[in-house]
Amino acid sequence: MSGRTRARVCPERTCVGCRERSTKAGLLRVVMVEGRCVPDPRGTLPGRGAYVHATPACVELAVRRRAFRRAFRLTGGRESPDTGELESHVRDAPRT
Ligand SMILES: [Zn+2]
Repeated sequence: MSGRTRARVCPERTCVGCRERSTKAGLLRVVMVEGRCVPDPRGTLPGRGAYVHATPACVELAVRRRAFRRAFRLTGGRESPDTGELESHVRDAPRT
């Protein structure tokens, strides 16, 4: 994939795991709720969202890169956000 084709109709987002761009429809929105990364498949939760492919691999990558900390602009402290809920969500999600 060259990734050079620009579809202007669909807004693109970057997966915080693998850093590949995808249309919003191909990514899972994640929001921060009280220090936890919560999956928001319907895109209805308020607040700042991060986008990740709904696969365990991308979520794991994002966790290892601390991409969620960056995405949610968490500063101070060393604690990473709790991603347990998100991880089980993508594990249960059907593979596409
Ligand atoms: Zn990804």
